[in-house]
Amino acid sequence: MKFGGTSVGDVAAFERVFQIVSSQLQKQPVVVVSAMTKVTDALLSAFEIAKKGDFAEAFLSLEPHFERHADVSRHFITDGRPNAFGGELELARGELSDLLMRVSRRSLPLSMLKDAIVSYGEQLSSRLLAEVLKAKGIRARQVDSRRLIVTDDEYGAAQPIWNETEELIRLELGPIIADLEVPVMGGFIAANRGGETTTLGRGGSDYSAAMVAAALQGGELQIWTDVTGVMTCDPRICAEARTIPVLSYEEAAELAYFGAKVLHPKTIKPAVDHAIPVRVCNTFEPDAVGTMVLADSAEAPNKIKSIAHKKNITILRITSARMLGSYGFMSALFQVFERYRTVIDVISTSEVSVALTLDNTAELEKIVTELERLGDVEVESGYAVICVVGEGLRASTGLAAKVFSTIDDVNVALVSHGASSVNLTFVVKEDVASAVIQKLHKQFF
Ligand code: ADP
Ligand code: ASP
Ligand code: MG
Repeated sequence: MKFGGTSVGDVAAFERVFQIVSSQLQKQPVVVVSAMTKVTDALLSAFEIAKKGDFAEAFLSLEPHFERHADVSRHFITDGRPNAFGGELELARGELSDLLMRVSRRSLPLSMLKDAIVSYGEQLSSRLLAEVLKAKGIRARQVDSRRLIVTDDEYGAAQPIWNETEELIRLELGPIIADLEVPVMGGFIAANRGGETTTLGRGGSDYSAAMVAAALQGGELQIWTDVTGVMTCDPRICAEARTIPVLSYEEAAELAYFGAKVLHPKTIKPAVDHAIPVRVCNTFEPDAVGTMVLADSAEAPNKIKSIAHKKNITILRITSARMLGSYGFMSALFQVFERYRTVIDVISTSEVSVALTLDNTAELEKIVTELERLGDVEVESGYAVICVVGEGLRASTGLAAKVFSTIDDVNVALVSHGASSVNLTFVVKEDVASAVIQKLHKQFF
């Protein structure tokens, strides 16, 4: 059972989590929890402040968040009873103060310090949740995820080393579960082989939970969040969005990748490999069934199940006469992106040009400089990728026509269709993206 940040935002949220966990104790759950809502952002911003040299200000900015944890702990663990969390919080304060000081002095590599700092969100939430569950009579036990999930050294987006991780999860959690205790661990955080703290990338708690489910061959992976399942589009864009009862793994992966942030893209993989059903459900409406993600799912009557989108997209166009009838050009092009570890999202080619989209532009300048050796390069920012997803989409006739005629007043900058059997992807200017999604939603749902 994975609980996201909004599911552990305050006292009332912790109470809801307790109710949900206690209603499923007979299934012997493992609980994976995100940082309390806004805490990861706050830790990242404290890191940035410290980087500019203002260590004291950085530490001070965290105080309201320490206080939110203390508030929850005071509410559930009444005066006079031993409160292990109080000591943990003091320890975390001291350690964070030391880490932020190191950032301002640059006394260790910054990427390493950043992960160490940001990990306190999940370290604290998992300790707090374990104490709350114990105070309410559940035999819970906090387990440090950094002892279970082993990754490479890519700070900020570490890749788990699966064989070692799988074995450690079984070794560490097996006996606790056998003893009828509920393990409570933080998502998102891990450690490399040298024991240094790493993180799995933003939203990575879903991934942690999927690895635990896979390693233990769990009966089901439950992702508890603040919406009732995966919906026909982001409910923040379109209030009419509805819950999709069943999605295939492939549909869910495409949606997650193209911005439906309710599921982290990598979540899907360990569950697919081990044929574990994934259920996305709402902490605020625990009795609603939510969405089941299964190996296969039936086609929707109109083929379309959901519309995802991702903003802040940059288009690169490379034009070169050298491409004409030659081979090896694409390979040279891709090598540039490989060298700068930059992922391409959508790509489309003609005889002499290639257009592609990026959402990570950290290395853009260097990439463009190298691409200019291959041809003329144009860069345009401020776009959004929109991805229409559904089983049977590629094979159905007239669907693309229906999509594009619905938005015939909008300029489409790039289209990709046919690579996947379940999606049609296109790119429009960011400022019209919400209106495009609302129109399509009205047309198809
Ligand atoms: P958590 O903190 O539980 O991990 P997230 O904020 O990561 O939650 O994901 C939940 C949010 O994802 C929702 O509040 C919703 O705004 C957004 N979202 C985007 N696309 C979709 C979609 N298709 N269906 C449901 N939620 C979506
Ligand atoms: N707390 C982390 C984040 O905000 C991980 C997660 O919530 O899944 O990105
Ligand atoms: Mg999330």
